[in-house]
Amino acid sequence: MERRSRETAALFRHLPLVAIGSDGRTTRLTPRRISRYPDGMPHRGPLLAALAGLLALAAAAIPAAAQPAACLAPAAIADADVTRNAEALADPVLCLSERFVADAGGPWHLVVVTNTETPGPLWAVPHDEEDEAFDAGVRAVRLYGGTMIAVENADARLVGGRDPNQHFALTAEAAAPCLATGGASPAYVGAFLADWDRRFPIVGLHANWDGYRDAGGLGDISVRRPDVKMIPFPSAAATGRLADEDTIVMLVSRTLPEENPAGRAAIDWFNERGVHVIYRHVTPQNNGCTLADYLTLNAVGPYVSIEVEHGDPDTADTLVDIVVEYLRRPDFPGML
Ligand SMILES: [Zn+2]
Repeated sequence: MERRSRETAALFRHLPLVAIGSDGRTTRLTPRRISRYPDGMPHRGPLLAALAGLLALAAAAIPAAAQPAACLAPAAIADADVTRNAEALADPVLCLSERFVADAGGPWHLVVVTNTETPGPLWAVPHDEEDEAFDAGVRAVRLYGGTMIAVENADARLVGGRDPNQHFALTAEAAAPCLATGGASPAYVGAFLADWDRRFPIVGLHANWDGYRDAGGLGDISVRRPDVKMIPFPSAAATGRLADEDTIVMLVSRTLPEENPAGRAAIDWFNERGVHVIYRHVTPQNNGCTLADYLTLNAVGPYVSIEVEHGDPDTADTLVDIVVEYLRRPDFPGML
């Protein structure tokens, strides 16, 4: 029996439920007695009240993070990204909420946008200075459903000097190899993934600066940059903005591409569609405690991310559409 229903059942057992009849006599309510009166229950009124009470108690057992928060109006959230997207975020199918989490590296302020009608991926936006990622996430959650989770940090990247996308470790041991982390942050990880519908993958949304440092550019993301962990697979078919070295889809796996037929096929699938790929080969030794590394090393779930150059929001939308096409493939491989 699933854990939550075990808890509810346990709650059920301990709760002395009584029904007070119209004649004032009390009747002890047990699961068996309730199941005996599916309809034509003699004490419908008090019985329903008792059940409502039970449901309220059961709801209380649901961890706070997973409870649907009250939906907020865009104006109620102090976040420039929300203000910039206020019109789109006013869409009635969307529910805005926010979470404050005290944990290592924090405190963390998370903004959550849920499509209340259409289930779908978790759209992850850990970097608050990447406006293109936030804007693409708002469009994606409206168009393709699911939930967007974004770190709010007054448009700055680092929270307390730490990268929010290098903080996915549940234990001190798991955090140990990750130099940039502020230690284990299970509450942060829990809150970040709380709304993830595990029937769907997680899609990371990112933007980066032109070129890469070693070649006189900025940042570290480029399909021109040779790297044994972030293995580049440029597409010969790429044109226009998709040909830009900073515009890529990132796949992640614990297996080297040459030993991973599904990984190889996924690289080819994107390259054939004119999309550059960076294949992140993660191991316990090179773990950076990123969301990608955490999900993959712990076999938690499938992850793919997009990167575009700062100032190129349209290409972020183009990559999101292509990634959704990839996720919707009947032979979608899941984790690579
Ligand atoms: Zn980023």
